[in-house]
Parts: sequence; C-alpha cells; structure tokens
Amino acid sequence: MLFKDKVAIVTGGSRGIGRSLVLMLAEEGADVAFTYAKSVQEAEALSAQVKQSGRRALALQMDAADFDKAKELIEEVKAGLGRLDLLVNNAGIIKDKALMMMTKEDWLSVIDTNLNGTFNVTRNAIVTFLKQKSGAIVNITSVSGVAGMSRQTNYAASKAGIIGFTKSLAREVAPYNIRVNAVAPGFIETDMLAGLKEEFKEELKKRIPLSRLGRVEDVAGAVKFLLSDAAGFITGQTIIVDGGLFIQ
Ligand code: NAP
Repeated sequence: MLFKDKVAIVTGGSRGIGRSLVLMLAEEGADVAFTYAKSVQEAEALSAQVKQSGRRALALQMDAADFDKAKELIEEVKAGLGRLDLLVNNAGIIKDKALMMMTKEDWLSVIDTNLNGTFNVTRNAIVTFLKQKSGAIVNITSVSGVAGMSRQTNYAASKAGIIGFTKSLAREVAPYNIRVNAVAPGFIETDMLAGLKEEFKEELKKRIPLSRLGRVEDVAGAVKFLLSDAAGFITGQTIIVDGGLFIQ
C-alpha cells in the first residue's frame, strides 16, 4: 500500500475524476476527506464505500470559492482524521462560450472555482505541510490550460493559472520537502463531457493516438504516481494524460 495511514484531501470528490481519486487513495491505505458542492447522495454513498474498505472518510459540502470554508476544512480534517499528508485540488467547472458571448459571471465563476479554489485550500493546508516539513500536492489542470481551446477562454485561463501556481509553489516549498505537481487530463469520460455530441466524440477518438477517450482511472494513475515516493525527485511538473492528443 502506497499511502498506508496517511491522510489525504480531494476537492470535488463526489463524482468523476475526484471520486476515482478518493477510491484510489483509500485502496492505497489512506484516510480520505473530500469536498463537494451539491451531490449529497453521491457523497454519502462514497463515504460509505470508503468506510467499507476499512478507511476513514470525511465528506464536506463547501463551495471551492469560499476561503473561510477552506480554512474550516483543514481544521476539521486535522481534528477528525488527526493529520494531513496529501492534497489533490480537483474541483472544477466549465462554462464554455465564445468570448463575445461570455458574461462577467461566466468568467468569474470559473476562475473562482478552479483557480481561486486551488489557492483557497492550498493556502490553508500549506501551513501544516511547512510545519511538518513534508507533503505532496497535485493540482488538476487541463490540456486546455496547456494548449488553449476555443470557447474556453475562462477555463483555459483558470487552468493555465493553476500550472503557474504549481511551478511557483514547487520552487517555494521544495526546501521544506514538499512536492507540488499538476496533472493535465485530455478528454476524460465524466459528466463534464455530457454536453459533447456522440459524433464529436467519435471524431475525437480518430484524432487521439491511443484511439479512445480517457477513463477516470487513467487520471488517478498519474496522480497516484505523483503523490507517491516513486515521484520523490519530481516537483513543479505537469503530466499530460490525454492519450497522445497534444503530444508536444
Ligand atoms: P465532474 O464530473 O463535473 O465533477 C466535478 C466535481 O467537482 C464534483 O465532485 C463537483 O461536486 C465538484 N465541484 C464542482 N463545483 C464545485 C465547487 N464550487 N465547490 C466544490 N466542489 C465543486 O468533473 P470531472 O470531469 O471529474 O473534472 C474533475 C477535474 O478534472 C476538474 O478540475 C476538471 O476541470 C478537470 N478536467 C476534466 C476533464 C474531463 O474531460 N472530464 C478534462 C480536463 C480536466 P458536485 O458533485 O457536488 O457538483
């Protein structure tokens, strides 16, 4: 077990990639706290599943954009689960539109959830990591933040911001034995892709060298590696998990 008796936080754990991260961490022996926005039933079911596997779970309903709630999250995790070792900033939303149609609200809500949400939890967790001189952080960005994508100026800006945040923080906290990396998924089959037409998905598969869309487990595999000691000399990096779509 890679993370036996460690304590991890996953933001946006109730569905999709976050859910698979929670299950992966529990399978590898960690106790897991996760946040979610609205999916109460899914969160309860996931907590029960983690507990059945013999690990502790803590589910917290909070808006990623809320700094004070992020502070409470860290306090609750330390009080309830006793420590904090691993953090995955995963909560994210899209509000895709051509820029000329994008409202200020479309712009701000995406930046607030994705980029400010990453700041909010990390800012509150970093104090613990600095004090204990250990910790590993993985931020979920996107190929959109690396290559850009039409109708995603808000999302791409938030995700490119996360990459800059990751690189800067990695340099800042490396002397304290804290590693900070990012994973940039390509097209992964979750609710986030629900708006894509089947024909578009088929076209996409033809353009992806590995000829399929990604699975949540593909992302969890990269996160597992980056959080583990196997990645002990890796910090400030972004691993792209996209089946080769954006090979550079
Ligand atoms: P998803 O299936 O839509 O799940 C999003 C998760 O984030 C849910 O748990 C949701 O909670 C939570 N969340 C949304 N807004 C939140 C908020 N304001 N505060 C707290 N939690 C919030 O999305 P996904 O596809 O798993 O995406 C996960 C991450 O991967 C995101 O950062 C996304 O940008 C990134 N990503 C995804 C893809 C893809 O193709 N799927 C590609 C590149 C990057 P509720 O269930 O309560 O709504």
